[in-house]
Amino acid sequence: MAITVLPTICALDCPDACSLDITVEDGKVTHLAGNREHPITKGFACAKMAKYPQRQEQSDRVLVPMRRIGPKGSGQFEPISWETALNEIADRLKLVIEKYGAQTVLPYAYGGTMGVIQSQAPLAFFRSIGALELDQTICAATGGAGWEANYGPNKLGTDPEELIHSKLIILWGINSLRTNSHSAPPINAARKNGCRVLHIDPFRNETSKFADEHWQIRVGSDAALALAFGNEILKNQWHDQEYLDSFATGLEEYREACSEWPLERAAEYCNLPLDSLRTMVEQFATSEAPFIKVGYGLTRNEGGGNAMRAIALLPALIGAWKKQGGGACLSTSGAFGLNVHRVRGDHLLQPDVRHVNMNLLASELQDSKLRALFVFNSNPAAVAPDSSRIRNGLCNEDLLTVVLEHFQTDTADFADYLLPATTFLEHTDIYTSYGHYYLQYSEPVVPARGEAKSNHWFFEQLARRLGLVDESLYWQPKEMVHELLQSTNPRLAGITAERLMREKSVKLNLPDRFLPYSDGSNFPDRKIRFSPAPRQLEFEVQPTTEFPLRLISPPGPFILNTSMGNVPSVIKLAGGEPQVIINPIDASPLGIANGDYISISSDIGSIVRKVIVSDDTLPGVVVALGQWWPKLSPDKKGLNEITSQRLTDLGGGSTFGNQVVRIELAK
Ligand code: SF4
Repeated sequence: MAITVLPTICALDCPDACSLDITVEDGKVTHLAGNREHPITKGFACAKMAKYPQRQEQSDRVLVPMRRIGPKGSGQFEPISWETALNEIADRLKLVIEKYGAQTVLPYAYGGTMGVIQSQAPLAFFRSIGALELDQTICAATGGAGWEANYGPNKLGTDPEELIHSKLIILWGINSLRTNSHSAPPINAARKNGCRVLHIDPFRNETSKFADEHWQIRVGSDAALALAFGNEILKNQWHDQEYLDSFATGLEEYREACSEWPLERAAEYCNLPLDSLRTMVEQFATSEAPFIKVGYGLTRNEGGGNAMRAIALLPALIGAWKKQGGGACLSTSGAFGLNVHRVRGDHLLQPDVRHVNMNLLASELQDSKLRALFVFNSNPAAVAPDSSRIRNGLCNEDLLTVVLEHFQTDTADFADYLLPATTFLEHTDIYTSYGHYYLQYSEPVVPARGEAKSNHWFFEQLARRLGLVDESLYWQPKEMVHELLQSTNPRLAGITAERLMREKSVKLNLPDRFLPYSDGSNFPDRKIRFSPAPRQLEFEVQPTTEFPLRLISPPGPFILNTSMGNVPSVIKLAGGEPQVIINPIDASPLGIANGDYISISSDIGSIVRKVIVSDDTLPGVVVALGQWWPKLSPDKKGLNEITSQRLTDLGGGSTFGNQVVRIELAK
């Protein structure tokens, strides 16, 4: 039996971007482990990815191109050759463009792979035909907009390898142990040096139990808490005047906004113990190295952008960016600065092209002007808000729908053409990260199963059939690696394509003590924007007598979006079926007990879920863990049956944490 162990990079939408060792036996993937030599991965992969070999070899992988034979949504297909699929799709697409124009063609893609080539190169195809432009807003847009409103473009954060020097770590709105699990080793190392850890999250989870202290904050009140920190810091003159004099603008306006939030008011508003709050602000402000890891979860509501801004200003206020192990991190992605422009076809983009916010897909489909939809790296029938209207829209017989997938997802059921896509173990790609500073590269560790092809291959073939001429559409993956590294970014100096291909994982050129923002922001004037001052917004959507509870949906520990949601061992690990957690105070008057099934209704729909009754969630808050495949849920409905398309205050982001609902025992 031939056994080899080959290197690759995890392509899932996770900040850790792990370096992995894949065991291949007789051409099949049999084991996945973290690379022991990698400074971030440190020899372990998370529980969900440990199961990826099963997913890779699962018998229900889509292995050949398929054409619809039943009604839309029925999931009935017949196999066809690639040649037939490509020719038919090209012919139908040409007709759509001729008859209705290219601005009835929409690509829909997100983080199904984080590989730059397989996620970005397809965009060049759509830009070359003049298709609609998708605004990729479902996850990181609001957090990014909030951060960049303070610090300018290209998000930076404290290097996770510096966390060992931290003296106080606040994990704010993130279940770090599950969604950024490789932050645990440096945090533990810091703890051995006396660092304390505070977790701020409405849901008591693994990270809360790991931390020294947990604050079960009221949903959506993060901006008020951060402004109260600001007020107390300024009142006690714990701020770093010298740093602010050099690098801040708008401080007086910020001071005024903070003054609305004395600690007493914030403690009551945010549902926090006043004494702990008072003690913590002082510890944070006077710590030798205070660090905040801020998560995207707290941005998924009407005030999410303001909340991010208010939190991200705190390290600037106290000069924490100057301290080794201090500062904050939302994302490290802005450091990479790859020359992605021609790879993703920026030069082909028409200035007057209409943009479509991906959170508004339900409305976009409903207005029925769309004539062609290409879905790759995404599963909108499960993950996008208002999914019942999405399904209705996908039933439109006049909509050419092409889905590139590994499995027959809920979205794939509506495809006219369902095409077999390669997994990250089967194609070449280059990976940045939003949790560390290593640029990474991987080649296939196994041949593609069946007739699976990469996204890049498919769109190149389609471009040929449409007679498109731009040379960038025909670059091969290794040529793209060269192109991507033709960058003026000094952090990429000395990182050639040859070196990256040889070493697989290369740290960006950062100074020995990398202290982002210690010399100001990324705006041309280097000033950090304290104005317009962030505010605690009062949400328009408030609990009512009809819908008295708020729903939040943090990631489950084992299912990453819907990527692993059909792997039997993962489903078993995650409890066998989707569950929701409600507080005993909400359960008891309704006669709801642990293990019962309840219906959860919003103004747009209703789902049924098994319930866990626990004070891990606050009274008034329903926690739904993870996104499950709708068709694998007992009621065949996904969580987004009951979520709305409402957008956030900044960045046009999703508001999955905004929804108000009612619960009752299921009949
Ligand atoms: S999902 Fe995240 S933690 Fe798990 S292996 Fe991939 S990068 Fe690592």
